[in-house]
Amino acid sequence: MACTLCRLHRSRKNAVPGEGSLDAQVMFVGEAPGYNEDIQGKPFVGSAGKFLNVLLHIAGLRREEVYITSVAKCRPPQNRDPADDEIETCSMNYLQKQVVMIKPKLVVALGRIAARTLLGRHVVIGKEHGMLLDCTYAGTGFKLFLTYHPAAALYGAETKSKLQADFRKLGSILKSLTYLSH
Ligand code: URA
Repeated sequence: MACTLCRLHRSRKNAVPGEGSLDAQVMFVGEAPGYNEDIQGKPFVGSAGKFLNVLLHIAGLRREEVYITSVAKCRPPQNRDPADDEIETCSMNYLQKQVVMIKPKLVVALGRIAARTLLGRHVVIGKEHGMLLDCTYAGTGFKLFLTYHPAAALYGAETKSKLQADFRKLGSILKSLTYLSH
């Protein structure tokens, strides 16, 4: 809440650092807070968040056992994409430290901005969604699962069913990674 490192602090109501278990083995990374997240200070509490809850259930995950955050911690005005310099400043100061602290076994990139930030390269999510990659970010290695941003489902039934299929696949990946079993 004290952060003034980028211009997004001027228009935010609340910073949205993320929430969940600090022992989480699975971490979800979105893009940036929206209207409802800005008001409540919590990630994924609006309509995309309601759909994320459904998707978590499909993958056999409880919200309390994972960690949920976004690349940018403050809402961009008019829900525009976070700018490159905002992404760089915010991820270097916060997302990198969160990954180092939580040390997730698997990270789910929700959408192309999260995927690009974590992989350090351009990602066409329509081509790479559903893939499991090896990723090293901030010196920390983990499996990275790529999928669409849940908000994309609100614009089309086709993307919605692709997201549901990706999360079914994620569920079986989690089962097959024995070190994730609990
Ligand atoms: N979309 C995101 O990427 N993050 C949120 O916290 C909410 C919506």
